Amino acid sequence: MKVPLDRLNEPQREAVQTLQGPILILAGAGTGKTRVITVRIAYMIAHGIEPARILGVTFTNKAAREMLERVQGLLQWPRSVPRRKRPLLCTFHSWCVRILREYGERLGYRRDFVIYDESDQLGVIRRLLSQYYTQETLPKPEVFLGWLSAIRNGADWIVDRMEKRWRSLLEDLQKKYTEALRACNAMDFDDLLCNTLKLFQNHPDVLDQCRQRWQHVMVDEYQDTNPLQFQLVRLLCEEHRNLCVVGDDDQSIYGWRGAAVRNILDFEKYFPEAKVIKLEQNYRSVNSILRASNALIRNNPNRREKQLWSARGEGQPVRVIEYKDEEAEAKAIAAKIHAAHTLDRKRLSSFAILYRTNSQSRPLEAALRRAGLRYRVVGGQSFFDRREVRDFMAFLRVALNPDDDISLLRIVNVPPRGLSSKTIQKLMAEATARGCSVFQAMKSEEVRGEFLRRIASRIEAFVAMLEHWQAALEQRDPEKSIGMHLEEWAERWMQEIGYFEELVRAEKDPETGENRVLNVKELIQSMDREYGSEDPREALAEYVADLSLESEIADEEDWEGEAVTLITLHSAKGLEFPHVFIVGVEEGILPHARSKEEETLEEERRLLYVGMTRAMQTLELSYCRGRRKHGRIVPAHPSRFLQELPEEGIHHEKGGQGSQTVSSDRSRQWFEAIRGAIRTK
Ligand code: ATP
Ligand code: MG
Repeated sequence: MKVPLDRLNEPQREAVQTLQGPILILAGAGTGKTRVITVRIAYMIAHGIEPARILGVTFTNKAAREMLERVQGLLQWPRSVPRRKRPLLCTFHSWCVRILREYGERLGYRRDFVIYDESDQLGVIRRLLSQYYTQETLPKPEVFLGWLSAIRNGADWIVDRMEKRWRSLLEDLQKKYTEALRACNAMDFDDLLCNTLKLFQNHPDVLDQCRQRWQHVMVDEYQDTNPLQFQLVRLLCEEHRNLCVVGDDDQSIYGWRGAAVRNILDFEKYFPEAKVIKLEQNYRSVNSILRASNALIRNNPNRREKQLWSARGEGQPVRVIEYKDEEAEAKAIAAKIHAAHTLDRKRLSSFAILYRTNSQSRPLEAALRRAGLRYRVVGGQSFFDRREVRDFMAFLRVALNPDDDISLLRIVNVPPRGLSSKTIQKLMAEATARGCSVFQAMKSEEVRGEFLRRIASRIEAFVAMLEHWQAALEQRDPEKSIGMHLEEWAERWMQEIGYFEELVRAEKDPETGENRVLNVKELIQSMDREYGSEDPREALAEYVADLSLESEIADEEDWEGEAVTLITLHSAKGLEFPHVFIVGVEEGILPHARSKEEETLEEERRLLYVGMTRAMQTLELSYCRGRRKHGRIVPAHPSRFLQELPEEGIHHEKGGQGSQTVSSDRSRQWFEAIRGAIRTK
């Protein structure tokens, strides 16, 4: 098998063909860094390196899936290669999950530990805080969560800057939080990294086995790895030294998570013999886009200057458009996409609309829906934050681990079983007094004896229900090798306890209720995927782990389908689209209002740079004169970043009136179509 290298330039080829030793590729956007990684993996496999020895770490599950597809394509593999025979391409977090499932017992966790996402974490913190405060004085749990996470990611200075009373509260909270998660056999996202590091540091045999297993390691988006992640990689590769990292310091956008340009310096410190490869040709964007992006980023001090060039021609000028308000902005963009799609037969998937914060998607979604254009929201937590989705995940987690109090409390009265919040509070108090989980308290006859007979039998019924479905999961059907299929099991469970009926019943509007049912059924169907393990419990644990990780980045299975992409600037990293709109390029949004107090102006500039460099053929930046806030229109101002763009190759417009340069028939036809689309709404 030969991997074709002719679609690589000289330095790319050099990186691909260097199979041993450390490599550092620091290069600008769109220069083919990710391509180097994928081709390199395929090349290694074609040269006899066992796929299972290769580890490729990326930033999102979606990127990992895409990478695997590309590698399989290059090697002309069928789609259904078993896991064992594939390279492992995943995010840092899923890599850690894999290690911890195998060795977590060394740290006192059970194999089927659950992963708490942000809203689970907030639930724990809220509960802990309620021990110090009343409902009325309860501070925002989000603030504490931010602090806890920052501290664990190495930002100790936060504590030093803090007032004394906060500091001692935080210390206490940190201790209790850790205990609470331990008691539920749960880990949060930071634990995944910290615990893996602990394993590597304190269990040399584990580290040794991992070193044996992954002898060739590649890291994409290296600029955003945090110190913990770098430590993991360093320990893994210290001996064999086969580590290739690729990144772009201008695209570092997770400074608040503890990532730093310092990574790059660290790399050179620990791997001084590294081969450093420079890539300068951009293959993604036309020159008008590249020039505008370069002009913007040049305003950041302390960066490595790069000379990017592209052979893709000048292209159309970058447009900067002013609109009356966000409704007008959304409507005009929808109309443009509509026209390009119907008149020019452009695929919907070639368009992306980028914004700074999730809440900006609302008017865009409304406008696209009105224009009858399919779209997909990426990077928002919308799907996974829906009540029914969270409920369903809680059911699955409880089936795996009934001692997971947070999940149990979520579903203990879903659908209603006559367990009032007073009953539940009493159960929680009993559990705390006995130092056991709520479920163990419910199981205890002694505890049940404390309740009225009627209530006690409801508690007993809940315990019996849960144990029944736990047993059903493990029951083996002699006809089939793996017992009941996961999706069949979940569907029957939800059906028999009347959950679907409850979803419809609880809504005033039947359509909302049915949508909720559909969302759960969609999840159930997605259980029908291939899971590594034949043991149904393990397969379920794997499914739940995937889901928890996916919910953080909320990417979609059918990504490639025909739809316009709505995406935050953060989630757009590494992607590319022929046509890009960036909306709300205004002071207070981009740069974000917070950036002033947090001194992250440079990072905001990088964020816009990331957004602009996603565009291949056309790029539009827009801002509004006013924005609706609490029912009033508040004046808005164009972002300072717009003033940093060059004169040349930029076209300024007032929105709503179309382009000032409409002249040819083609443009007029376009213009009419846009007007038509606006009128019919
Ligand atoms: P980013 O910094 O945004 O992550 P990147 O450096 O990872 O970008 P890629 O996504 O790998 O860049 O490549 C950008 C585009 O250029 C892709 O469409 C890729 O297929 C194409 N490309 C990369 N190298 C070449 C090449 N040598 N010849 C032709 N096309 C290339
Ligand atoms: Mg990339």
